[in-house]
Amino acid sequence: MKNQAAFLTGKQKLEIKTCEMPNVSDTDVLVEINHIGICGSDMHIFEDPYHAVKDIRLPVILGHECAGRVVETGKQVTGLMPGDLVALEPGVPCGTCEFCRSGRYNICPNVHFLGARPWLNGAFSKYVSHPARWTYKLPDSMDTIEGALLEPLVVGMHAAGRAGIQLGQSALILGAGCIGLMTLEACLARGIRKIAVADLYSNQLAMANKIGAEYTIHTASENLIAQASAITGGAGFDVVFESTGSQAAAGMTPALVKRGGKIVMVGNIFGETPFNFFQTNAKEVDIIGVFRYRNLYPPAIELCQKGQVDTKQIVTNYFDFTEIQAALEYAVFQKQEAVKTVIKM
Ligand SMILES: [Zn+2]
Ligand SMILES: [Zn+2]
Repeated sequence: MKNQAAFLTGKQKLEIKTCEMPNVSDTDVLVEINHIGICGSDMHIFEDPYHAVKDIRLPVILGHECAGRVVETGKQVTGLMPGDLVALEPGVPCGTCEFCRSGRYNICPNVHFLGARPWLNGAFSKYVSHPARWTYKLPDSMDTIEGALLEPLVVGMHAAGRAGIQLGQSALILGAGCIGLMTLEACLARGIRKIAVADLYSNQLAMANKIGAEYTIHTASENLIAQASAITGGAGFDVVFESTGSQAAAGMTPALVKRGGKIVMVGNIFGETPFNFFQTNAKEVDIIGVFRYRNLYPPAIELCQKGQVDTKQIVTNYFDFTEIQAALEYAVFQKQEAVKTVIKM
Protein backbone atom coordinates (compact mmCIF):
# COMPACT_ATOMS: atom_id res chain seq x y z
CA MET A 1 0.00 0.00 0.00
CA LYS A 2 1.25 3.50 -0.83
CA ASN A 3 0.38 6.83 0.70
CA GLN A 4 -0.36 10.10 -1.08
CA ALA A 5 0.36 13.52 0.36
CA ALA A 6 0.36 17.16 -0.71
CA PHE A 7 3.89 18.52 -0.35
CA LEU A 8 4.55 22.22 -0.09
CA THR A 9 7.52 22.46 -2.45
CA GLY A 10 7.83 26.24 -2.75
CA LYS A 11 6.04 29.52 -2.25
CA GLN A 12 2.33 28.92 -3.02
CA LYS A 13 3.13 25.59 -4.62
CA LEU A 14 1.66 22.25 -3.55
CA GLU A 15 2.36 18.94 -5.28
CA ILE A 16 0.49 15.72 -4.64
CA LYS A 17 2.98 12.86 -4.63
CA THR A 18 2.94 9.16 -3.89
CA CYS A 19 5.03 8.31 -0.84
CA GLU A 20 5.72 5.56 1.67
CA MET A 21 3.07 4.56 4.21
CA PRO A 22 3.73 6.01 7.67
CA ASN A 23 5.20 3.72 10.30
CA VAL A 24 2.62 2.41 12.82
CA SER A 25 4.15 1.66 16.22
CA ASP A 26 2.57 -0.56 18.88
CA THR A 27 0.85 2.45 20.44
CA ASP A 28 -0.23 4.14 17.19
CA VAL A 29 -3.29 3.93 15.02
CA LEU A 30 -3.25 4.30 11.26
CA VAL A 31 -6.00 6.67 10.17
CA GLU A 32 -7.36 7.14 6.68
CA ILE A 33 -8.10 10.86 6.66
CA ASN A 34 -11.59 11.90 5.54
CA HIS A 35 -11.65 15.66 6.17
CA ILE A 36 -9.05 18.34 6.92
CA GLY A 37 -9.66 21.99 7.63
CA ILE A 38 -7.36 24.64 6.23
CA CYS A 39 -6.05 26.63 9.17
CA GLY A 40 -4.79 30.22 9.23
CA SER A 41 -1.32 28.87 9.99
CA ASP A 42 -1.41 26.61 6.90
CA MET A 43 -2.44 29.68 4.87
CA HIS A 44 0.43 31.76 6.26
CA ILE A 45 3.03 29.14 5.49
CA PHE A 46 1.60 28.46 2.03
CA GLU A 47 1.55 32.16 1.17
CA ASP A 48 5.20 32.76 2.05
CA PRO A 49 6.89 29.82 3.80
CA TYR A 50 10.28 31.40 4.47
CA HIS A 51 8.70 34.57 5.81
CA ALA A 52 6.24 32.67 8.05
CA VAL A 53 8.81 30.24 9.47
CA LYS A 54 12.46 31.26 9.12
CA ASP A 55 13.93 27.78 9.66
CA ILE A 56 11.45 25.89 7.47
CA ARG A 57 12.94 23.33 5.12
CA LEU A 58 10.81 22.38 2.15
CA PRO A 59 9.20 20.17 1.12
CA VAL A 60 6.81 19.76 4.06
CA ILE A 61 3.31 18.38 4.45
CA LEU A 62 1.03 20.88 6.22
CA GLY A 63 -2.41 20.31 7.77
CA HIS A 64 -3.47 19.44 11.30
CA GLU A 65 -7.27 19.86 11.59
CA CYS A 66 -8.20 16.34 10.67
CA ALA A 67 -10.49 13.39 11.24
CA GLY A 68 -10.93 10.07 9.54
CA ARG A 69 -11.37 6.32 9.93
CA VAL A 70 -9.08 3.93 11.77
CA VAL A 71 -7.69 1.28 9.40
CA GLU A 72 -5.08 -0.37 11.60
CA THR A 73 -4.18 -0.39 15.29
CA GLY A 74 -0.83 -1.05 16.97
CA LYS A 75 -0.46 -4.17 19.14
CA GLN A 76 -0.87 -2.34 22.46
CA VAL A 77 -3.82 -0.18 21.42
CA THR A 78 -7.05 -0.70 23.32
CA GLY A 79 -10.29 1.23 22.97
CA LEU A 80 -10.00 1.88 19.23
CA MET A 81 -10.80 -0.49 16.41
CA PRO A 82 -10.54 -0.48 12.63
CA GLY A 83 -13.63 1.27 11.26
CA ASP A 84 -13.93 3.75 14.14
CA LEU A 85 -14.35 7.38 13.11
CA VAL A 86 -11.83 9.49 15.00
CA ALA A 87 -10.43 12.98 15.41
CA LEU A 88 -6.72 13.52 15.91
CA GLU A 89 -5.42 15.95 18.51
CA PRO A 90 -2.42 17.12 16.48
CA GLY A 91 -0.03 18.05 19.29
CA VAL A 92 1.75 15.16 20.99
CA PRO A 93 3.64 16.42 24.06
CA CYS A 94 6.55 14.69 25.80
CA GLY A 95 4.55 13.72 28.90
CA THR A 96 7.43 14.20 31.34
CA CYS A 97 8.41 17.90 31.48
CA GLU A 98 7.13 20.19 34.25
CA PHE A 99 4.43 21.62 31.94
CA CYS A 100 3.15 18.21 30.91
CA ARG A 101 3.19 17.05 34.52
CA SER A 102 1.14 20.05 35.63
CA GLY A 103 -1.43 19.45 32.88
CA ARG A 104 -0.35 22.44 30.76
CA TYR A 105 0.90 20.17 28.01
CA ASN A 106 0.17 22.75 25.29
CA ILE A 107 3.28 24.66 26.36
CA CYS A 108 5.49 21.56 26.43
CA PRO A 109 8.74 22.62 24.72
CA ASN A 110 9.13 19.14 23.22
CA VAL A 111 5.70 18.87 21.63
CA HIS A 112 5.43 17.27 18.21
CA PHE A 113 2.63 18.89 16.27
CA LEU A 114 1.32 17.69 12.90
CA GLY A 115 2.54 19.91 10.08
CA ALA A 116 4.49 22.23 12.37
CA ARG A 117 7.84 22.66 14.06
CA PRO A 118 9.94 20.51 14.38
CA TRP A 119 8.47 19.61 11.01
CA LEU A 120 6.62 16.52 11.62
CA ASN A 121 4.65 15.76 8.49
CA GLY A 122 1.08 16.99 8.61
CA ALA A 123 -2.28 15.63 7.60
CA PHE A 124 -2.70 16.79 3.99
CA SER A 125 -2.22 13.12 3.35
CA LYS A 126 -4.32 9.99 2.67
CA TYR A 127 -3.00 8.15 5.72
CA VAL A 128 -1.60 9.43 9.00
CA SER A 129 -0.18 7.38 11.85
CA HIS A 130 -0.92 8.93 15.25
CA PRO A 131 -0.59 7.89 18.91
CA ALA A 132 -3.85 6.24 20.01
CA ARG A 133 -3.66 8.29 23.21
CA TRP A 134 -4.19 11.47 21.22
CA THR A 135 -6.88 10.01 18.96
CA TYR A 136 -10.53 10.38 19.99
CA LYS A 137 -13.40 8.18 18.87
CA LEU A 138 -16.31 10.23 17.54
CA PRO A 139 -19.84 9.43 18.72
CA ASP A 140 -22.28 8.15 16.10
CA SER A 141 -23.97 11.55 15.86
CA MET A 142 -20.76 13.24 14.67
CA ASP A 143 -19.19 13.05 11.22
CA THR A 144 -15.57 13.64 10.27
CA ILE A 145 -16.27 17.23 9.16
CA GLU A 146 -17.21 18.05 12.75
CA GLY A 147 -14.30 15.88 13.83
CA ALA A 148 -11.86 18.00 11.84
CA LEU A 149 -13.44 21.21 13.17
CA LEU A 150 -12.83 20.16 16.77
CA GLU A 151 -9.31 21.56 16.44
CA PRO A 152 -10.27 25.21 15.82
CA LEU A 153 -13.19 24.80 18.26
CA VAL A 154 -10.86 23.88 21.11
CA VAL A 155 -8.78 26.99 20.33
CA GLY A 156 -11.92 29.08 20.89
CA MET A 157 -12.82 27.09 24.02
CA HIS A 158 -9.33 27.56 25.41
CA ALA A 159 -9.49 31.32 24.75
CA ALA A 160 -12.85 31.57 26.55
CA GLY A 161 -11.48 29.42 29.37
CA ARG A 162 -8.34 31.52 29.74
CA ALA A 163 -10.57 34.61 29.93
CA GLY A 164 -12.61 32.96 32.69
CA ILE A 165 -15.57 34.83 31.23
CA GLN A 166 -18.55 34.82 33.62
CA LEU A 167 -22.30 34.81 33.10
CA GLY A 168 -23.57 38.32 32.55
CA GLN A 169 -20.27 39.68 31.25
CA SER A 170 -19.76 41.26 27.84
CA ALA A 171 -17.27 40.23 25.18
CA LEU A 172 -15.82 41.84 22.10
CA ILE A 173 -14.25 39.52 19.55
CA LEU A 174 -11.90 41.21 17.10
CA GLY A 175 -11.81 39.19 13.89
CA ALA A 176 -14.55 36.92 12.58
CA GLY A 177 -12.34 34.39 10.87
CA CYS A 178 -12.59 30.76 11.88
CA ILE A 179 -10.94 31.27 15.28
CA GLY A 180 -12.98 34.37 16.12
CA LEU A 181 -16.18 32.51 15.22
CA MET A 182 -15.15 29.48 17.28
CA THR A 183 -14.46 31.83 20.20
CA LEU A 184 -17.96 33.21 19.64
CA GLU A 185 -19.43 29.68 19.75
CA ALA A 186 -17.47 28.91 22.91
CA CYS A 187 -18.68 32.12 24.63
CA LEU A 188 -22.29 31.43 23.62
CA ALA A 189 -22.01 27.87 24.94
CA ARG A 190 -20.81 29.39 28.23
CA GLY A 191 -24.01 31.41 28.40
CA ILE A 192 -22.52 34.77 27.43
CA ARG A 193 -25.03 36.86 25.48
CA LYS A 194 -23.71 40.40 25.16
CA ILE A 195 -21.17 39.69 22.43
CA ALA A 196 -19.95 42.03 19.70
CA VAL A 197 -17.85 40.83 16.78
CA ALA A 198 -15.76 43.19 14.65
CA ASP A 199 -14.30 42.49 11.23
CA LEU A 200 -13.36 44.15 7.95
CA TYR A 201 -15.42 41.72 5.88
CA SER A 202 -19.21 41.76 5.84
CA ASN A 203 -19.57 38.07 4.88
CA GLN A 204 -17.77 37.06 8.06
CA LEU A 205 -19.94 39.40 10.12
CA ALA A 206 -23.05 37.89 8.54
CA MET A 207 -21.78 34.52 9.74
CA ALA A 208 -21.15 35.91 13.24
CA ASN A 209 -24.72 37.21 13.25
CA LYS A 210 -26.12 33.87 12.16
CA ILE A 211 -24.19 32.09 14.92
CA GLY A 212 -25.60 34.45 17.53
CA ALA A 213 -23.50 37.59 17.98
CA GLU A 214 -25.74 40.31 19.38
CA TYR A 215 -23.75 43.11 17.70
CA THR A 216 -21.47 43.28 14.71
CA ILE A 217 -19.08 46.10 13.86
CA HIS A 218 -17.98 46.49 10.25
CA THR A 219 -14.56 48.06 10.72
CA ALA A 220 -14.21 48.95 7.03
CA SER A 221 -17.08 51.42 7.37
CA GLU A 222 -17.57 52.00 11.12
CA ASN A 223 -15.35 53.40 13.85
CA LEU A 224 -14.52 50.48 16.13
CA ILE A 225 -13.83 52.49 19.28
CA ALA A 226 -16.95 54.65 18.87
CA GLN A 227 -19.17 51.62 18.25
CA ALA A 228 -17.70 49.67 21.17
CA SER A 229 -18.32 52.66 23.40
CA ALA A 230 -21.90 53.03 22.15
CA ILE A 231 -22.68 49.34 22.79
CA THR A 232 -21.30 49.41 26.33
CA GLY A 233 -22.50 52.88 27.35
CA GLY A 234 -18.91 54.09 27.39
CA ALA A 235 -17.71 51.40 29.81
CA GLY A 236 -15.87 49.06 27.42
CA PHE A 237 -16.09 45.27 27.31
CA ASP A 238 -15.34 42.89 30.18
CA VAL A 239 -13.30 40.72 27.83
CA VAL A 240 -11.70 41.66 24.51
CA PHE A 241 -10.54 38.72 22.41
CA GLU A 242 -7.92 39.69 19.80
CA SER A 243 -8.20 37.09 17.05
CA THR A 244 -7.25 39.07 13.95
CA GLY A 245 -3.50 38.67 14.37
CA SER A 246 -3.14 42.29 13.26
CA GLN A 247 -0.91 44.78 15.04
CA ALA A 248 -3.41 47.59 14.43
CA ALA A 249 -6.26 45.69 16.09
CA ALA A 250 -4.07 44.60 19.01
CA GLY A 251 -3.00 48.20 19.52
CA MET A 252 -6.66 49.24 19.94
CA THR A 253 -7.51 46.73 22.67
CA PRO A 254 -6.57 49.02 25.62
CA ALA A 255 -9.21 51.50 24.44
CA LEU A 256 -11.88 48.81 24.04
CA VAL A 257 -11.61 46.97 27.34
CA LYS A 258 -13.49 47.88 30.53
CA ARG A 259 -11.71 48.95 33.70
CA GLY A 260 -10.63 45.76 35.48
CA GLY A 261 -11.30 43.75 32.32
CA LYS A 262 -9.25 41.27 30.34
CA ILE A 263 -7.52 41.29 26.98
CA VAL A 264 -7.05 37.81 25.57
CA MET A 265 -4.47 37.50 22.80
CA VAL A 266 -5.71 34.66 20.59
CA GLY A 267 -4.32 35.62 17.16
CA ASN A 268 -0.66 35.18 16.35
CA ILE A 269 0.82 38.59 15.72
CA PHE A 270 4.14 38.65 13.88
CA GLY A 271 6.62 41.38 14.66
CA GLU A 272 6.44 44.03 17.33
CA THR A 273 3.24 45.87 18.21
CA PRO A 274 2.89 49.40 19.60
CA PHE A 275 0.75 48.95 22.71
CA ASN A 276 -0.39 51.45 25.33
CA PHE A 277 0.54 49.76 28.61
CA PHE A 278 -0.09 53.01 30.46
CA GLN A 279 -3.76 52.71 29.55
CA THR A 280 -4.01 49.03 30.51
CA ASN A 281 -2.30 49.72 33.84
CA ALA A 282 -4.57 52.66 34.57
CA LYS A 283 -7.53 50.30 34.03
CA GLU A 284 -5.77 47.43 35.84
CA VAL A 285 -6.39 45.16 32.89
CA ASP A 286 -5.19 41.54 32.70
CA ILE A 287 -3.45 40.67 29.42
CA ILE A 288 -3.67 36.95 28.77
CA GLY A 289 -1.72 34.83 26.31
CA VAL A 290 -3.21 31.82 24.54
CA PHE A 291 -1.22 29.04 22.95
CA ARG A 292 -3.21 26.29 21.24
CA TYR A 293 -5.26 24.36 23.89
CA ARG A 294 -5.16 21.58 26.43
CA ASN A 295 -7.47 18.91 27.84
CA LEU A 296 -10.36 20.06 25.67
CA TYR A 297 -11.05 17.42 23.02
CA PRO A 298 -13.38 15.35 25.25
CA PRO A 299 -15.51 18.34 26.36
CA ALA A 300 -15.53 19.69 22.78
CA ILE A 301 -16.90 16.34 21.55
CA GLU A 302 -19.54 16.55 24.29
CA LEU A 303 -20.56 20.06 23.18
CA CYS A 304 -20.92 18.93 19.55
CA GLN A 305 -22.83 15.83 20.52
CA LYS A 306 -25.28 17.80 22.67
CA GLY A 307 -25.76 20.41 19.93
CA GLN A 308 -24.43 23.22 22.14
CA VAL A 309 -22.16 24.31 19.31
CA ASP A 310 -22.67 24.01 15.56
CA THR A 311 -19.25 24.23 13.96
CA LYS A 312 -20.25 23.04 10.49
CA GLN A 313 -22.15 26.25 9.75
CA ILE A 314 -18.77 28.03 9.55
CA VAL A 315 -17.63 25.99 6.55
CA THR A 316 -18.11 28.00 3.36
CA ASN A 317 -16.22 25.78 0.90
CA TYR A 318 -15.31 22.16 0.34
CA PHE A 319 -12.59 21.07 -2.09
CA ASP A 320 -11.43 17.61 -3.12
CA PHE A 321 -7.88 16.62 -2.17
CA THR A 322 -6.89 16.70 -5.86
CA GLU A 323 -7.80 20.42 -5.88
CA ILE A 324 -5.75 21.28 -2.81
CA GLN A 325 -3.66 23.87 -4.67
CA ALA A 326 -6.85 25.70 -5.69
CA ALA A 327 -8.25 25.29 -2.17
CA LEU A 328 -5.28 27.00 -0.54
CA GLU A 329 -5.26 29.75 -3.15
CA TYR A 330 -8.95 30.31 -2.58
CA ALA A 331 -8.58 30.41 1.21
CA VAL A 332 -5.66 32.83 1.02
CA PHE A 333 -6.76 35.18 -1.74
CA GLN A 334 -10.58 35.22 -1.44
CA LYS A 335 -10.90 36.17 2.22
CA GLN A 336 -13.97 38.27 1.48
CA GLU A 337 -15.74 35.03 0.44
CA ALA A 338 -14.05 32.18 2.26
CA VAL A 339 -14.55 31.81 6.01
CA LYS A 340 -13.56 28.19 6.41
CA THR A 341 -12.33 25.85 3.71
CA VAL A 342 -12.34 22.10 4.25
CA ILE A 343 -10.58 19.44 2.16
CA LYS A 344 -12.41 16.21 1.43
CA MET A 345 -10.06 13.29 0.85
ZN1 LIG B 1 -5.59 25.05 13.30
ZN1 LIG C 1 6.38 18.03 27.98
